[in-house]
Amino acid sequence: MENEIIPYVEMCRREGVSLQRGMNYRLAKNHSVILMSVRRGAPYADRIEDDGSTIVYEGHDISRSSRIINPKVVDQPEHSPSGALTENGKFHRAAQEYKTGKRPPERVRVYEKIKEGIWSYNGVFHLVDSWREQVHGRSVFKFKLIAVEGEEDLSLPVPAHSRTRRVIPTAVKLEVWQRDGGRCARCGATEDLHFDHVIPWSKGGSSNTADNIQLLCGRHNLEKHDRIE
Ligand SMILES: [Zn+2]
Repeated sequence: MENEIIPYVEMCRREGVSLQRGMNYRLAKNHSVILMSVRRGAPYADRIEDDGSTIVYEGHDISRSSRIINPKVVDQPEHSPSGALTENGKFHRAAQEYKTGKRPPERVRVYEKIKEGIWSYNGVFHLVDSWREQVHGRSVFKFKLIAVEGEEDLSLPVPAHSRTRRVIPTAVKLEVWQRDGGRCARCGATEDLHFDHVIPWSKGGSSNTADNIQLLCGRHNLEKHDRIE
């Protein structure tokens, strides 16, 4: 479920690979995986927009090599030297094919780094657009992803009408993590944690203030949801 907090090793186990790269097109039959970070000092300028429903994800640089000393001054590549599509190229093609009606949107699971060793699963997104931008004199890719509700079962086809949802802003997650000391607010457990809305978003609770978000373990998260629903 979205908003769970997940150690890096568990992310890799779930996705079935050692996640070394930020962009992983079609990691499995039905989905891609993106690792994002909006922390200060993060290597790429990822951002969350439209009140939390949209991620604008920056494409990735060319690899450092003997010929490329500083990848940050080189255009982000669409193709590798051999002519194959890079991850930028694959995501870009998928987004453009979606825009021209050739295919449904690529579904992307997004994991967000909150701090060293601590990741949050941001749920399933649709890749809906991509473009190039000039940033500090070079060309970078941007990818637009929309957070969708109720599409965790990736074996099902993309519904004709998807409902959007909102993610909790990174600053709020970090504030909650620190306030609650990385423990369930009810029992102090340190594993299987989730960011929980005290008042659910569907009942008007905000995602944008730490006052309405708490850390709960899996058991207490479930108990609470059983009571509300
Ligand atoms: Zn608990």
